[in-house]
Amino acid sequence: MMERLMSVVTTARNMVSVPFVDLQAQYALLSDEIEETILRSLRSTDYILGDEVEIFEQEFAAYCGTDFAVGVDSGFSALELALRAYGIGPGDEVITVANTFVATAFAISSTGATPILVDIAFDTFNLDVNQLEGVITPKTKAIIPVHLYGHPAEMDCIMDVAGKHGLIVIEDACQAHGARYRQQRAGSIGHAAAFSFYPAKNLGACGDGGMVVTNDPRVAKEIRMLRNYGQREKYLHSVQGYNRRLDTLQASVLRVKLRHLDDWNSERRNHAELYGRLLGGSTVEIPLTSQLTEPVWHLYVVRSTVRAKLQAWLDEHNISTGIHYPVPVHLQPAYRSLGYHRGDFPVSERYCEEILSLPMYAELSPTLIERVVEVIVEFGQDKP
Ligand SMILES: *Cc1c(COP(=O)(O)O)cnc(C)c1O
Repeated sequence: MMERLMSVVTTARNMVSVPFVDLQAQYALLSDEIEETILRSLRSTDYILGDEVEIFEQEFAAYCGTDFAVGVDSGFSALELALRAYGIGPGDEVITVANTFVATAFAISSTGATPILVDIAFDTFNLDVNQLEGVITPKTKAIIPVHLYGHPAEMDCIMDVAGKHGLIVIEDACQAHGARYRQQRAGSIGHAAAFSFYPAKNLGACGDGGMVVTNDPRVAKEIRMLRNYGQREKYLHSVQGYNRRLDTLQASVLRVKLRHLDDWNSERRNHAELYGRLLGGSTVEIPLTSQLTEPVWHLYVVRSTVRAKLQAWLDEHNISTGIHYPVPVHLQPAYRSLGYHRGDFPVSERYCEEILSLPMYAELSPTLIERVVEVIVEFGQDKP
């Protein structure tokens, strides 16, 4: 009888599934507000660069602690237009990291400049600041540090090196909405910063969106022109521009969600703390955080030397995971022309084989985290 009951309990537990992210859970909480604001935007017919865009820009700048914010259609455009606003283009070199989402490097290439990569540090997953000076040449114009997984990069050191060599710093804050470095918000430390509002980001639209923040009025003005066909006034095109505008509809949704961002980020921090506590002593390496930073845990990334088996084991137990990212930038087929080889960035290459992103989203519950950890611990026991 007892055995039967135990086996029923075990079966029930095995049927619990844990998604990697759960956008449905967030939508369920905000559906009334979101539907109401979308309907209002629809009825206003103010679809392109409407009032909601301008208000959201002001709110987001205030949130980040910057003077200006300019809404664009994606994180990619935010990075690219920021580079262009600083006059970066063909013949220039821009330094970034080998372990990032490829968009960081593609934004550099799109301007005609060349991405120059450095490795990540062992303990942070972020740019190894000790490698910066070694790759600076007379062609270097800018550095793009990436606050990967929501952990701010070592900005003090990066700003020092940039200052010494007269370089621009554009933060890739696409995974770090609301993170802090020495009390300052991610995005407010460099000359400019790029954010993405891709739906699964900490602050996500119902579609694509992005933002550049900066304290430089010239750069803000330039990006406002570049995103809208280079127009300073209607049908007068001062520079060759693009169509990279943020939709009014998306801005209205993002205004609703911005009000919840701090709460969501603090939930993510609680989840990370629980994962860290429960996974201590298990066979996976847990992520470290620097004393100087307040990360926002866009992703919770552990490392395992038997990653493929661990991921399959979790999958068998209905726990979804991800790999961010499986192939470093320098080994992407698209970048064969950069001339990098396997072995050039050993930490990034090794981590690409070992990293595993566990379920992480604000609405995740302690019970589900306990379930994820239980399955990882069982794996450790059964499959050393
Ligand atoms: C998501 C992301 C981008 C690109 O943002 P999109 O809005 O998808 O264009 C750039 N860099 C990093 C680190 C990202 O995570």
